[in-house]
Parts: sequence; C-alpha cells; structure tokens
Amino acid sequence: GVPEVPIRPIAERRVSRQIQVGPVAVGGGAPVSVQSMTTTRTSDIGATLQQIAELTASGCQIVRVACPTQDDADALATIARKSQIPVIADIHFQPKYVFAAIEAGCAAVRVNPGNIKQFDDKVKEIARAAKDHGTPIRIGVNAGSLDRRLLQKYGKATPEALVESALWEASLFEEHDFRDIKISVKHNDPVVMVNAYRLLAEQCDYPLHLGVTEAGPAFQGTIKSAVAFGALLSRGIGDTIRVSLSAPPAEEVKVGIQILESLGLRQRRLEIVSCPSCGRAQVDVYKLADEVTAGLEGMEVPLRVAVMGCVVNGPGEAREADLGVASGNGKGQIFVKGEVIKTVPESKIVETLIEEAMKIAEQLEQDGAAS
Ligand code: SF4
Repeated sequence: GVPEVPIRPIAERRVSRQIQVGPVAVGGGAPVSVQSMTTTRTSDIGATLQQIAELTASGCQIVRVACPTQDDADALATIARKSQIPVIADIHFQPKYVFAAIEAGCAAVRVNPGNIKQFDDKVKEIARAAKDHGTPIRIGVNAGSLDRRLLQKYGKATPEALVESALWEASLFEEHDFRDIKISVKHNDPVVMVNAYRLLAEQCDYPLHLGVTEAGPAFQGTIKSAVAFGALLSRGIGDTIRVSLSAPPAEEVKVGIQILESLGLRQRRLEIVSCPSCGRAQVDVYKLADEVTAGLEGMEVPLRVAVMGCVVNGPGEAREADLGVASGNGKGQIFVKGEVIKTVPESKIVETLIEEAMKIAEQLEQDGAAS
C-alpha cells in the first residue's frame, strides 16, 4: 500500500507514556488517533454494531459506547467481541458497570469521577480488575460534572479545577500502582479547555484525550474543535481526539481526520485546493469543486487537486498540485504534475479530472506495492 508517513507534523509531540487501547497505541509518540461515540442504545446490539461498522468505514479508530443501564452492560461483551475497532465503555454513576465493562473485554473504560458516587472507595478494586484484564482507564473530567469539593474550592470549572480533579483521581489509582491511564479535561469553552490541557500536560506524562465537550451543532462544533485542537496539537499536546458534534458520529470522524491532516499529523489523502472564486471567475467554482470532491471521495492515496476559477492564480496553483484545472472561456486546462496535458470543454472538466486522478492513484499504488 501507500506509505503512511506523517508529513511535516506541526510540532514535536509532548513525551507521554503509552497505553494500549486494544490494538491502538495511544501516547508515547503513536499517531494521534480519532475516536467517536455511538448514539444508539447500547443494549440494541444490532443497531450499535451497525453504527460501529459505519464509523469504522469512515476512519474511526476507537469507539465509545454509553452504558447507563444493566441491559447496556449486558450487551458490552458481544459488542466488544464483534466490533472491528476497540470499544470503550463510558460509565457514569455506577461503579458496578465499570467492573462489568472490564469483564466484558472492553478495550478501555471511561470513568467520570465527578459522576460516580463513592468512586474514591472503589478505586482499589477497579485498579485490581483493570490490571488483571490489562484494561486502561480514561479519567474523563467534564466541566458539567465537576467534583463538588472542587466546585466549592474554585467557584466554577476553571482550568485549575479540572486539572486538580483529574490529577487527584489519577493519584488514587497511582496509590494502587495503576498507571494505565489516559486523561481528558473537557469544557465547552475552547479557551478554558486549551488552558486546562496545557496545565495538565505540564503536570503529568499521561496520554491526553482531547475534546471540546458539547461543542454544538456541526458548524460551530467543527470550528471550536479545530481551533482548540489546533492550539494544543501545535504545541505537541494531544494523543487521541474526539470531536463532539450534535450531528451523526461519522461527521465527527471526518472532522477529526481533517484536523489531523491539516496539522500534518496524518498523511493527507485527497486535498482539494479550490479558490474562493471572485469577479474574475469564468466557471462556477463552487459547483466544480463540489463535483470533483464527490467524484473523488474515498480515494485512499494522497492527492492534491487544484480547482481554479480563472487564469490569474489558476495555472500556478494547478501546476503545484498533482492534478488541476484552470478554467477560462468555457474551457478547462487540465494539468498533471505541472504539465498541461489537455484542454477540455467545461462540461468535460469533472470527468477528465476524475479519470486522471484514477490514473495517478493506480500509479501510486503500484509504486507503493513495488517499494
Ligand atoms: Fe478569482 Fe481566479 Fe483567484 Fe479564483 S483563481 S479567486 S477566480 S482570481
């Protein structure tokens, strides 16, 4: 296949210890992984596995499932066994489900200490069970469910309060010699969230799961997550990410992957370099860019395709890309690796680009297989 080498990562990664979420390494220089969470009732095993399959197809590497009832806990073993990607059980309120999830063979368990009554008393048993099964724990602190003691101490969910809560819980596990931990300190405000993770990153070497919680509908949530993750990953902070959107979970995965590709933390795949269009455009750039994007969706090889509205920047950008078009006068000049290979009428631009992209992809795959 095509080599998976990150191109120009934006920053040196923070040195963190490594944990293993099933087959996916998190921290310790492992590639930043993308997670999401199912929206089905976990007890509905068929629907949950179906959604996990869709998430897997969209590139999700780790999936989390909620576990609010005994029926959900009972479903975990089958889901964990049949899922193609590691399953993390998400537990609030009930320590007994933590044990159930570990027994069920989940790849990890997320606990929210602020939401688990008498959690502190149970840590010893949880640490023992998790250790016996090699199950890592995510300590998932959330602004909305901060420990009451800390809420009183700090007045609200400040970065310091979130970090103190997380490190306190981690220290309880450490007392039992358990360090198979990753941590999140989520807040819906990217500024608080970024400051919390920066503080946390200085104070421990646990791998960090990044998330802006309740980030909102797709547009707002995408921007909040991209800005916050960008601010952290550009300092090397973050080992796995979850974009939270009030939208289907596969959308979260697409956004997460795009964020990592944009930061050079992951091999870029299809990248459309299209101009915003302006008064000089001689073609409907939006439509053309959408059609080319749709036509090339699912392409597995790194490919930069330029779609330009006119000849001002058009030929320059089209030449820089693997493939491109510069439009003008009802025609499109098609470029491959900097050379104009043909000029086609506007109506043939999309199909010609797709054809040429396929040829390049085949060539890249052959080269990859040969190397
Ligand atoms: Fe405008 Fe041409 Fe630049 Fe597109 S490439 S933004 S149409 S000048």
